[in-house]
Amino acid sequence: MTTGAEAARATAPHLLRAAAEAILPGVVEVRRRLHRRPEIGLHLPQTQAVIAEALRALGLEPRVGGSTTSVTTVIEGARPGPTILLRADMDGLPLTEDTGLGFASEVPGAMHACGHDTHVAMLLGAARLLAERRDALAGRVLLMFQPGEEGYHGARFMLDEGLLVEGAHGAGGVERAVAIHISTRYPSATIALRPGPLLASTDAIRATVRGRGGHASAPHLALDPIPTAAELVLALQAAVSRSVDAFDPVVLTIARISGGTTNNIIPERVEIEGTIRTTSPENRALMRDLVRRVAAGVAAAQGTEIDLEIDEGYPVTLCDPDVTAWVRGLAAELAGEAAVLDMAHPIMGGEDFSYVTQRVPGMMAFLGARPASEDPATAPQNHSNLVVFDEPSMALGVALYAAAAIDFLGGDA
Ligand SMILES: [Zn+2]
Ligand SMILES: [Zn+2]
Repeated sequence: MTTGAEAARATAPHLLRAAAEAILPGVVEVRRRLHRRPEIGLHLPQTQAVIAEALRALGLEPRVGGSTTSVTTVIEGARPGPTILLRADMDGLPLTEDTGLGFASEVPGAMHACGHDTHVAMLLGAARLLAERRDALAGRVLLMFQPGEEGYHGARFMLDEGLLVEGAHGAGGVERAVAIHISTRYPSATIALRPGPLLASTDAIRATVRGRGGHASAPHLALDPIPTAAELVLALQAAVSRSVDAFDPVVLTIARISGGTTNNIIPERVEIEGTIRTTSPENRALMRDLVRRVAAGVAAAQGTEIDLEIDEGYPVTLCDPDVTAWVRGLAAELAGEAAVLDMAHPIMGGEDFSYVTQRVPGMMAFLGARPASEDPATAPQNHSNLVVFDEPSMALGVALYAAAAIDFLGGDA
């Protein structure tokens, strides 16, 4: 005997892709509305209002965050079962849009340049498909709309408020988590993914080299911090190349160095800032120790002082191998094997969905959205003032979110 759930699961991919294509105009409309009014950081009241209104229109109850403008909601299946979390981030970036699109940002100095507007629109589209298919669900879908992905630890605020805690959001223990991130690295309507490390940890280095100012003609009477700073930059690069396994990538970049006012003054101090990117928790810990040790050694050798802070950024985004293989299968069913791209290596950017995948078996997939007209070598990337995402790709994102929920919850009824 075939149950309704089994029937739904067997036919879901093709039907879901078609259903997602059918609602694409509405998804595009929401996306463009958000795109015109980007908001930055943890407090995004207009974006939150758009999400809450859309959820209410589906008969879902939005729950808003206490410390941020996050939104969650639960789609209850017809029968009991586990909970799957689907996540979209909400925030824009502090730059001025130069795409010339008809729906370009109307807010000077703010742009949805990372495509988080598309994520919200896709997850709302998936919510619609899932709300219409509750009968196929044995369990619950927890939708996570988070602000502050771009460096503000928005996901961590939601976890601190009990996102995953039994009962707190009306959802029981979350057993699986899936996120989608749009990208112009990949052709439109493809899915790129990999098990294990997907994105890097993102710790920041802030160092101040302290010496003693004086006349540039008499360095022996001063304590020049500039050679210390120069040596520190080079010593860090050398230490990384000698200490880290070449097959477990690490990037250390000193991105700002600043000191002095003119040619004949030795300054008192030099400021240095940089970023440490690693793709394993082991290397993350190793790099923190290494940077501290090298800074202390260089300072001691020069007789200067280095005040060093390592600001904790996002953890490595680790994708559960089983969950990734499962999503890969769903993507192949939805889009065809040729549209699934197995990433050869991680990307050294960061993601705060990593906080979720630290706690729940989960994964993030990239949704390719590079317009066919763009040269892969020169297409503006995410975070560019010129980036344009191919909107029809969003139908695949909607379908993948929905397929993950239906497949995970459609099982053992
Ligand atoms: Zn971004
Ligand atoms: Zn992003």
